[in-house]
Amino acid sequence: MIFRNPSGAPELGCDACGCRWFDRMTDTCYECGTPIPAAEARRFVEAAEAWQARSGAKATPAAASEDGGTD
Ligand SMILES: [Zn+2]
Repeated sequence: MIFRNPSGAPELGCDACGCRWFDRMTDTCYECGTPIPAAEARRFVEAAEAWQARSGAKATPAAASEDGGTD
């Protein structure tokens, strides 16, 4: 399943146990070993790319203040 974190970025979560830790080498869940369905992985990549394209365009002015931010 695909979650959204509070900033709106997509996060891939395990269908079986709901955790978000995956072994990137084997595309399986660290917790329960469930493999990521190929369609799900593809949807996640698309969502992540769309998010990066959006946030990349939007984050440019904010990034400067984030570098020296105090929060
Ligand atoms: Zn799992």
